[in-house]
Amino acid sequence: MTPTDVSPSPTDFIREMIDGHLRANRFQGRVATRFPPEPNGYLHIGHAKSVCLNFGIAAQYRGTCNLRLDDTDPSGESLEYVESIINDVRWLGFDWEDRLFYASDYFEQLFQFAVQLIKVDKAYVCSLNADEIREQRGTLTEPGQESPDRNRSIEENLDLFTRMRSGEFEDGAYVLRAKIDMTSPNITMRDPILYRIKRAIHYRTGTQWCIYPMYDFAHCLSDSIEKITHSICTLEFENNRPLYDWILDQLELDSHPQQIEFARLNLSYTVLSKRRLIELVIREYVSGWDDPRMPTIAGMRRRGYSPEAIRNFCERIGVAKNDSLIDVALLEYCVRENLNEKAPRVMAVLHPLRVVIDNYPEGQIEEFNSPYHPQNPGMGSRKVFFSRNLYIERDDFMETPPKKFYRLAPGKEVRLRYGYFMKCISVVKNPQTGQVAELHCTYDPETRSGFAPDGRKVDATIHWVSVDHSLSAEVRLYDRLFQIADPTGKEDDFTKHLNPKSLETLTSCFVESSLKGAAPEGNYQFERIGYFCVDSKDSSPGKLVFNRIVSLRDSWAKLSEKGRK
Ligand code: ATP
Ligand code: MG
Repeated sequence: MTPTDVSPSPTDFIREMIDGHLRANRFQGRVATRFPPEPNGYLHIGHAKSVCLNFGIAAQYRGTCNLRLDDTDPSGESLEYVESIINDVRWLGFDWEDRLFYASDYFEQLFQFAVQLIKVDKAYVCSLNADEIREQRGTLTEPGQESPDRNRSIEENLDLFTRMRSGEFEDGAYVLRAKIDMTSPNITMRDPILYRIKRAIHYRTGTQWCIYPMYDFAHCLSDSIEKITHSICTLEFENNRPLYDWILDQLELDSHPQQIEFARLNLSYTVLSKRRLIELVIREYVSGWDDPRMPTIAGMRRRGYSPEAIRNFCERIGVAKNDSLIDVALLEYCVRENLNEKAPRVMAVLHPLRVVIDNYPEGQIEEFNSPYHPQNPGMGSRKVFFSRNLYIERDDFMETPPKKFYRLAPGKEVRLRYGYFMKCISVVKNPQTGQVAELHCTYDPETRSGFAPDGRKVDATIHWVSVDHSLSAEVRLYDRLFQIADPTGKEDDFTKHLNPKSLETLTSCFVESSLKGAAPEGNYQFERIGYFCVDSKDSSPGKLVFNRIVSLRDSWAKLSEKGRK
């Protein structure tokens, strides 16, 4: 293997540190990272940041990144979550080759490491219960008290620990604790718990074990076993770093990774913690982990966000040492930017209003060859059918328009996208409701090119579909899940801040015929409306369902400027 190069210009403090290690030859020129999710929920955009960071660093330094399921706590872990994690990381565009690991595969090794710690008198079996341990731990200003069991003999500790494993004791009867320093200014170092008795069925090891290692014990050792060089984690583990190092030092392990902490991603108008996301799923505020409003990878995928857009977002936010709240508008900007380039343009009418073009011959049909992308002819074109009966968007018409309304109104002329000028002649109303039911218009056959030979101009171009050639569709308009930027910032129940208008379902929409057979997950720009994708679960050739990915512009920015949200 060629030695890894230092980066030409490190872009953040983590890469700077790695460069330093490479210069000092600390890990013999190796860079090995890992992404270690616990399979107790689906991955969210915060995890994506960590995925991009770990796999990105490995790629940049020609190193490796492992995918490790950190499954040492049986409660809440499941195969469904494992599968979703594997799927999501792969979908994001990353490859761990043959390095898919499970911390639960290390249970025996971890047990032996614990035995070794006992043998060097660095761990002891303690009979205090969880409350007592907490009470005796002390505070930031007061030292902790030593457990009465702290000076048990090594033999007795070995005997008790072995019996803990073999199931002789009740849950909670004993724990294994590290023997460090009850007066340490760092509370984490005051004889932390390393193992506890817990009878639970582990989704992989079943009932083989009734003792399980704590995160602090399992994590550093799993990293060491895998010969990780840089163990990147979030800021809340900063105080645990001395413990990470202590355990590896006591065991005199050659492979001693460097733990590096960075600030976790917080995103406005959503929540990023598995505990809260689970609550949204269980209490059915959303339809599931992949509800398009969820900040999960699966949700964003179903919403129509692309892996490129998510990776791009993660790169733009970078990594820092201080916690901050990133504006979700930045994520939406990245999504929009990607779609603007990639999404084919098509026409769809979400709130249909019927139009009859009185002077267009009945039964006549024209095909307009319309490009999929205004700037990219390489994307090709599709046929758009034109006929006497059209649907236009209801709000593109006003019977008594205010001054600055440039679209269709009685006596006014507009351009139909890709086609003719059309003028509104009369309005038919529903006699019961008084609502506008249909418009009668005329078209100018001389304006097929979109321009009038006499040079007259129109103020607006509107989209449309032909009644006989359009397909009916359901369109789901998704908006932000919460109404306030920081729903967990307050003490009260975060679900109180859910946005009641986060989903609006429109069932009588019409889309142009080229969308027949549109593939699941296919992305489109509905001209003048926004970006939409074919729902991967509910759409079928007989019943098209589209999700709004994102609007064309950031309407929230406009609204908050006006102080309305
Ligand atoms: P949560 O707080 O959502 O429950 P977690 O940290 O418990 O997440 P893990 O499965 O342990 O979830 O996380 C796997 C990796 O992803 C860890 O290295 C963790 O630091 C990282 N990670 C989790 N949440 C974020 C976030 N919001 N921003 C950046 N990285 C994160
Ligand atoms: Mg965790």
